[in-house]
Amino acid sequence: MIQGRCPICSKVYEIAALDDLPSFPFCCKRCRLIDLGRWADGKYLIPGSPVPTSSAAPDADEDDPA
Ligand SMILES: [Zn+2]
Repeated sequence: MIQGRCPICSKVYEIAALDDLPSFPFCCKRCRLIDLGRWADGKYLIPGSPVPTSSAAPDADEDDPA
């Protein structure tokens, strides 16, 4: 059993395996989208709408969880 807490809404979830939560580490797809929206600096994310990926990305920051 894996316990985790959604970094967006702080909801605590419990899953048997990571496969059970496709949106890991977020509790749901919605929170995952919210996080994606935060990364897209200066852009507003409309839930349900696909976010176009910019081909002009000057630098790609990689967040490495310790
Ligand atoms: Zn959440």
